[in-house]
Amino acid sequence: MVITEVLEQAFGLRPVAVSPLGGEVDQNLAVDLHDGTRVVVKISPPGTDPDHLRGQHTLMSLAAQQGALDPVHVPTMVPSQTGDTVVELASDGTVRGGESVRGGAGARLVTVQGWVEGRTLSELNAHSVELLGELGGTAARMVHALASAKGLPTASSHHWDLLRAPEAVTDGIGAVDDRARVEQVRRIVSWFDDAMDRHRTELSMAVVHHDLNDFNVLARRGMDGRHHVHGVLDFADALYTVRVSELAIAVAYAMLRKPNPLSAAAAVVRGYAAELELTDAELAVLYPLAAVRLCVNAVTWTKRCAEGGTAYGQERMRHTWPAIAHLARTPPELAELVFREAAGATVAPVVPVAGEGALSVLGTSAGPAVDVRAHLHPVAELGARRSTVAGETATHRLGVELASAEPFKLFAPYDGVVEERDAVPEPLLILRHEGNIWSRWTGVTSTVSRGDRVAAGDVVGKAAVPSGVGVRVAVFRSAETARLVERALVPASEVGAWAVVSPDPQEFLGLGVRRSREGDGWTAGRVLATRDVHFARSQRSYYERPMNLVVGRGTWLYDEFGRGYLDAMNNVSHVGHGNPRVVAAATAQLQRLNTNSRFLYPGIAEYAERLTALLPDPLDVVFLVCSGSEANDLAIRMARQVTGRSDVLVVDGAYHGNTSVITGLSPNRYKGPGGTGPDPTTHEVEQPNRYRGRFGYGDPQAGPKYAADVQRQLDRLTQRGRPPAAFIAESAMGTAGSIFYPDGYLDHAYAAVRAAGGLCIADEVQVGFGRLGDVFWGFQSQDVVPDIITMGKPIGNGHPMAAVVTTREIADAFDTGMKYFNTFGGNPVSCAIGTAVLDEIAEQDLQARAAETGREFRSRLEQLAARHELIGDVRGHGMYLGVELVRDRTTKEPAGQEALLVSELMKDEGVLVYPTGSAGNVLKLKPPLTFTKRDAELFTDVLDEVLTRDW
Ligand code: PMP
Repeated sequence: MVITEVLEQAFGLRPVAVSPLGGEVDQNLAVDLHDGTRVVVKISPPGTDPDHLRGQHTLMSLAAQQGALDPVHVPTMVPSQTGDTVVELASDGTVRGGESVRGGAGARLVTVQGWVEGRTLSELNAHSVELLGELGGTAARMVHALASAKGLPTASSHHWDLLRAPEAVTDGIGAVDDRARVEQVRRIVSWFDDAMDRHRTELSMAVVHHDLNDFNVLARRGMDGRHHVHGVLDFADALYTVRVSELAIAVAYAMLRKPNPLSAAAAVVRGYAAELELTDAELAVLYPLAAVRLCVNAVTWTKRCAEGGTAYGQERMRHTWPAIAHLARTPPELAELVFREAAGATVAPVVPVAGEGALSVLGTSAGPAVDVRAHLHPVAELGARRSTVAGETATHRLGVELASAEPFKLFAPYDGVVEERDAVPEPLLILRHEGNIWSRWTGVTSTVSRGDRVAAGDVVGKAAVPSGVGVRVAVFRSAETARLVERALVPASEVGAWAVVSPDPQEFLGLGVRRSREGDGWTAGRVLATRDVHFARSQRSYYERPMNLVVGRGTWLYDEFGRGYLDAMNNVSHVGHGNPRVVAAATAQLQRLNTNSRFLYPGIAEYAERLTALLPDPLDVVFLVCSGSEANDLAIRMARQVTGRSDVLVVDGAYHGNTSVITGLSPNRYKGPGGTGPDPTTHEVEQPNRYRGRFGYGDPQAGPKYAADVQRQLDRLTQRGRPPAAFIAESAMGTAGSIFYPDGYLDHAYAAVRAAGGLCIADEVQVGFGRLGDVFWGFQSQDVVPDIITMGKPIGNGHPMAAVVTTREIADAFDTGMKYFNTFGGNPVSCAIGTAVLDEIAEQDLQARAAETGREFRSRLEQLAARHELIGDVRGHGMYLGVELVRDRTTKEPAGQEALLVSELMKDEGVLVYPTGSAGNVLKLKPPLTFTKRDAELFTDVLDEVLTRDW
């Protein structure tokens, strides 16, 4: 009887199409039914115990019970006509169901289960931290769901039984020809044996699915644009065994295809620990169990492929062997610490190595200048890397690096014994010192031999390469770790664990003590929690998992671990974070004098001259204030007073600041979440948005056409007898989503406003000071001269200062006798800083650099747009660019959630950008003007990689 007849007769189904699916033991078929649904038909080989299958089905129904794995699905069994789930296809072709299923000789068992949608984790090219967390959570919930299944007839053991891994390895290892692989597997099995010897009796038992591998877990893209765990298949390997095996197996396969397997594993552990507590013993055995599982997998499939070969097996091993090679060099003591941290424990602080009296590794006589690059700090050359594989990149140096342009000698800081000496693949030396400390030296040519004793002060060797690659010295607390750990870089998320496994060698090497971590114990989590207590929720922070910044230099920001983040979003730090000229000017002036502007001091006069010299006539009267909002508030107040009118025109979508008056003039706020609408005197004009608006990039008349709406609003207001006091517009729109006006827009708009007796205010808070490259002020790109200009953000490179500049005529008209005083505006320190910023822009030629780098940056982004459908528009000039993300290029549906996710993932890769715009779907790019072409290249490489991932 063919299978379709079996399905019709025994299950009452009406198949229309059958296609084969893969499988290790069963023959699996996907069958499309008459009613449009789909089922999976499993045909088990002769000899399968029907009760064993029924046991699996009971586990499936436990896992499927309301809420047990929510929102993760398991297949639902389709009962046969008899009500039983199992049907027997006897060797004579007859079909039997219910009680009469006997599992007779040659008989095969047929079961049918519902189809679960999704792509297997193995099919996705990347796994987000969230997805891996959900995998861990699913493992924990599976343990819960199956808790009542104790005593069900699951198999007592089988080939994949994790506790019998050494047997499975012994059984197949003969088929592995590669000696290095055999050695890796043996090492991992020894870790397993060791961990089990110590902890086996402390481990709790449970019925577990026991096969949450990447072929059995399905994911589906949700409404948020990300993949989420959606289904779990295949209960055939379920066992009553140690509970932690559920997590260990999920962890094992999550480590495949990752540049840093432990980071991925930690994400799974974090997800599990959030739902179910992990005991100390479980944390201790987790890594050996997971690693040994991959060994069983690789060895088994190597053997089976040698015996006949399956495509499934080949596919499996393609990723398993490389992961094993990495794990074999990842010591269990490190993994255990990483997992403990992931499970919420605080890892013990670094134990200081060595005490008084360490001799210097560089000797006592004055040698060549040697640059000491610190342990667990990010490598400065991070920007050069190209990340091709999805996942966290290793960024932090392990051990100190000593580099010099000339050869130099190295001396032993302590007595020791040479435990290992190698020249290949690179010069390597391992010394054992008293107190169970091992030092590992690479890049050192040495004449010592294994077993030699060295005394403190003896020459250990010479820097092998006189220039370029430096000497690296790392310190470890176990011989095995010192031998195994070859890597030079580790990922940021593992820095805490590495700091324990490999203490800072600086003091040990007699190079002086350095502070290990900045931040005084204020981790990102603690800062966030404290903000939650003492700040209002309306004061949001960037990112779902924010970093904790402690240092900024140039285009880079650094967290408390020293991890660097390339800053592509901070237009305030115009001349670079921590700019030395600005810092020096501020420091000197703070030491000398700080007071308010009703006193006389030279700095304020000089600054007013310098600033107005950059502006066209007749803009030469300055009000120095403290924030962009305050500048706009004053500009509006001035316009109202001077014209004797109240109404104001604003561009739809604009943001001008946070004061009461300005909030009512900022459509971005009053029309956004929580907004209560415009002030009665606020009137919007159409946003001149050529990507989304009525007149597009192809329309050369778009400028005057959009300006026609300004005229319309003016006419309307004039007819009502209330012509406006002012038209306020950013010279290019920032918060609205990096929107550049078409040619002629401001020109026509200003002419209309002035004809109606209103003043024109240009908000240059975001785009001024050379950012746009071709022009110093944004309004110059529109060929207009405003009546009032407001400035902020970059003016003080992060110091709170801002300015309003207007004409003598307007300033005089504003002088009604009422005093204007600003306690902090224009104080000597602000003026010194403002002058330093102007000097820096001029001397570093930053405007020209913004133009040139901006052109290249934009063209790189345009190249990405050609390859990634999500990018709907790339726009902007100089160091002020916008990348608008859309779900569909035709409908232009804004991809706001995607923009947030892209920003989050880029942050994880060490690159900072954030969404803006009314729909939050525009990546705003406005880095310090010191941004280099290499920075632009790094940014686009990382964006490219993130957009290529299956989220
Ligand atoms: N104007 C514009 C165009 C702005 O982008 C901002 C700030 N994002 C402001 C004014 C307000 O400046 P501040 O936050 O310094 O008050």
